[in-house]
Amino acid sequence: MDENKLRRLLTRMTALVVAVCLILLLITGVIVAYSIRSLRDYMYEQMQAEAQEYKKRIFRQMDSDFQLLHSLAAFLELSDVAAMPRQAFADGLYQINAANDFVSIAYFAREGEGVIDTLGYGTEADYPLAACNEDVKKAVMQSMQGEDAVSRMFESEVSDGRVYVYSVPVYEGDQVVGVLAASDHLDIFADILDGDTVLGGNGYIHMIGSEGKFLVRSERSIVKESGLSSIFDGPYIPEDEEEELLSCLARQESVFSSFRYEGQECLFYLEPVGLNGWYLFCANTVSDAGASLYPILLAVGIAFFLVLALAVFLLFYGYSQVRKSNTQLVRLAYYDALTGAENALRFSQKLEGCQQQAEEYSILALNIRHFKFYNEIFGKKMGDRLLCDITQAIRADLGEGEFFCREAADLFYLLIRDTKESSIRARFGCMVQQIKKAALGERNRYALSLYCGVAVKGGMMQALLAQQSIKNTYTTAVAFYDEALHEKERRKNRIESHMQAALESGEFKLFLQPKMDLRTGALAGAEALVRWQTEDGSILYPGDFIPLFESNGFCAKLDLYMVERVCAHLRAWLDAGIPPVPISVNQSKLLFYEGDYMERLESLVHRYRVPPRLITLEILEGLAAEHLEDINARIAQLHDRGFRVSMDDFGSGYSSLNTLCQLKIDELKLDQGFLRRASREGDARRFLILEQIVELARKLGLSTVAEGVETQEDADLMRRLGCQYGQGYHYSRPICGRQFDSQYMEPSAAR
Ligand code: C2E
Ligand code: CA
Ligand code: CA
Repeated sequence: MDENKLRRLLTRMTALVVAVCLILLLITGVIVAYSIRSLRDYMYEQMQAEAQEYKKRIFRQMDSDFQLLHSLAAFLELSDVAAMPRQAFADGLYQINAANDFVSIAYFAREGEGVIDTLGYGTEADYPLAACNEDVKKAVMQSMQGEDAVSRMFESEVSDGRVYVYSVPVYEGDQVVGVLAASDHLDIFADILDGDTVLGGNGYIHMIGSEGKFLVRSERSIVKESGLSSIFDGPYIPEDEEEELLSCLARQESVFSSFRYEGQECLFYLEPVGLNGWYLFCANTVSDAGASLYPILLAVGIAFFLVLALAVFLLFYGYSQVRKSNTQLVRLAYYDALTGAENALRFSQKLEGCQQQAEEYSILALNIRHFKFYNEIFGKKMGDRLLCDITQAIRADLGEGEFFCREAADLFYLLIRDTKESSIRARFGCMVQQIKKAALGERNRYALSLYCGVAVKGGMMQALLAQQSIKNTYTTAVAFYDEALHEKERRKNRIESHMQAALESGEFKLFLQPKMDLRTGALAGAEALVRWQTEDGSILYPGDFIPLFESNGFCAKLDLYMVERVCAHLRAWLDAGIPPVPISVNQSKLLFYEGDYMERLESLVHRYRVPPRLITLEILEGLAAEHLEDINARIAQLHDRGFRVSMDDFGSGYSSLNTLCQLKIDELKLDQGFLRRASREGDARRFLILEQIVELARKLGLSTVAEGVETQEDADLMRRLGCQYGQGYHYSRPICGRQFDSQYMEPSAAR
């Protein structure tokens, strides 16, 4: 996943988390709002119920006071007050008051004269109504009309605090003759209002007059300021709502509202008492009221916040982790662990970008000549260091818009912005100098040699092909990919895509080249050589496809196919009654080591009923040099089954006489290069060696075959050296089976 993709994914994830958080927030908000609303409703109901309860208690209190006054009034009615001496009446009043808890008790006659007894102040026998305050007068006058009355509250002159007055009429017959009045402290309400049970012990109830003045203000109050005379003085009512509230009070309506005090939300409720315009004023803080609900709301809030914080934390933690592991993955996916250079995958991605943009560039495939030897000489550690140093040097050399990678081992690809051949060569020259300086320094005097293939505006494969074209040369350091290479590549692709079908349709033909007895000049055998006769009739020679088949593994199949063709040909001779000659078949290294090689060979000779001694298997000299014991074991198995084994091309590579002595072969084929140099190029030393080899082979009991006998002189020379057989153009080129038969195997043919 690249960085952009990851970022997009994370953005989507973040958006999702934010959306989920918002939804959660919304839900929580709705729940909280709903809870608060329910709480308010609940509080409203609670306040209303409690106010009603208090109202009842107030009325109960008043009723009991009135009842008391009524019984006293009835007693006075019976006692004929008018006839009673004033002092005696005053004493009687004193007795009554002492037995009750009124502040004062008074009697006013119709004419206005009165008697009053005040607790602690004694009795005044002559206290006119006119001396009383307006509130008392009003209540008394109301009772003179035959009604029970309660006065408004007023400041008592004789005792602390405010008092109010009850008054009841006193009758004589149907006539109201006077009024019995008693005043009492409002403390009696204050006691009630201070009760801890108010609003579940959290709220407070006050009593106010119709104009908002506090009549009784609870000692314990939410609003701490003392001396507030009206609800309009405190924080209760915002100024702009005063008017409206006043008119509500005037209409004796109940009011439910809220205010803020010391940062808390408080609710209040105004319930008209139904007497003198009085109101019960209940107030409570929301948190107190919701004491049980609040912790839950708080917990929900905190939990939500924690979840939110956790989500945000996890999001960012996840983001950083994903980023980190992505960076690591990118490193693993795009970078070479040893040198830290980018790898081929990354290089090809970047290259693709350049190709799409139709930019000017060239690809260089750079390689170290015989890096394997460097590793062997200096050790793997130093080899690794050399690669790192080369990486550094290349990195330092590249300019803007240029990049490189290490593909594998010692193969580097570079993309440079040059396209001109001469400047690329010059650039490569400089680069090699830099690399040598950086890589080797004073370390050693190893002749580091680098070579590279260049594909101008091409791809990595083309640069590599160009590079491989000079792999085995020492003189060329730079090769450009061109039409010839292109054609070669095309041909290779064509061959690879057709080989299987060609094998199945019999396009691979058996050609035979005779092997002659050098002494008698008679036919002694033949070598099977493959020719590829393509659909269009053209012929491909082994040199065109065998090396490719060896590298792609197809050679093993082809070789067995050739063995089969040889078997078929031998069978045909046998069937025709023609005395057969042995035929040699070339066997590639791959096939020789295949597990079921023996069984397959055996089954072929079995199927065609061919004596195995008529088949000679030619193995390459290089094969023997590697695993002598394995090879000998293999050869022994072939001998057991009756096959003959020949060593091909002896003397073409790093031949060793030691190997020759140890190898249990039956025949030695001397490479044609030997004869060419010894005979035609007059190389006397070579001649001597050849002579010794033939001599050695003879002593080892091996038959010898000279390859590349092109002239009679060649044949004579080899015969003189003691070589037994010759093969070459002097006798015949490889020819197709039919031609070989007519030329060598017909009864009339000279053998
Ligand atoms: P080789 O096994 O050494 O075969 C001899 C090659 O030398 C043949 O080339 C032959 O045409 C050529 N030759 C024969 N006489 C002369 C001569 O007097 N002068 C010169 N200059 N050349 C001569 P060819 O047929 O092109 O085969 C080339 C190589 O391809 C063979 O070399 C062999 O290694 C390989 N090859 C051919 N057929 C097969 C096959 O069926 N299987 C495998 N594995 N390799 C094969
Ligand atoms: Ca051969
Ligand atoms: Ca050969």
